Amino acid sequence: MIIDVHAHLELEESDENRNEVLKRAEEAGVKIIICNGIDPKNNRKILELSKKHSLIKAALGFYPCECDKVSKEEFEKELKFIKKNKKKIIAIGEIGLDKKWDNDFDRQQECFRELISLAQKLDIPIIVHSRMAEEKAIEIMEEMNVKKAVMHCFSGKKKFVQRCIDNKWSLTIPGDIIRGQQFQEMAKMIPLKQILTETDFPVKKFEPADISESLKKIAEIKGLDIQELSNIIFQNYQRLF
Ligand SMILES: [Zn+2]
Repeated sequence: MIIDVHAHLELEESDENRNEVLKRAEEAGVKIIICNGIDPKNNRKILELSKKHSLIKAALGFYPCECDKVSKEEFEKELKFIKKNKKKIIAIGEIGLDKKWDNDFDRQQECFRELISLAQKLDIPIIVHSRMAEEKAIEIMEEMNVKKAVMHCFSGKKKFVQRCIDNKWSLTIPGDIIRGQQFQEMAKMIPLKQILTETDFPVKKFEPADISESLKKIAEIKGLDIQELSNIIFQNYQRLF
């Protein structure tokens, strides 16, 4: 019962490679892969893939570094598209804030707020990307009283991790935990009920089947056996989505 709540199988250009990844995932016991939309083109691709493959669940969204590049009309049009497909999706993602590149940060915040309020209307979770803007993302989410949220690959300071935990949001543990001390520390902090797993494939070199390795590491940190841990994470997924 392995769950990947944040992947981008839609970004894999070759169908053949994608099918191989799906096959290895299935063999490894992966039950769910949530593909996260970053723009209109990929949102459509995800809907198509989720129709074709039972492992794939759709989250539609607008990546922070993309949403400020389109006109307001285009952005609103995409919100309507997402709303129209509400029965086919289980979350709004990938959305958030990103200060790494030279983007219009004010516009990013406006878009983030609109996407949050759409998720609240549809009563589904948001999957949040925040880079070099963790505090602002948390502030907006607190102000909007967000209840259902997944902080994807959160790499903010410990005090911000704690704030996410206090808000009862879920946090994902990426494949980096196998070697990365930062995520090992984070896994120690996050209560079991708020842990989810992800790969960010193919943005990162991990693929859904590799989550079994992350589970080993998390289980070791939490002092559980792997079966017990993967059941808990599966329940966390079911409760939230
Ligand atoms: Zn992503």
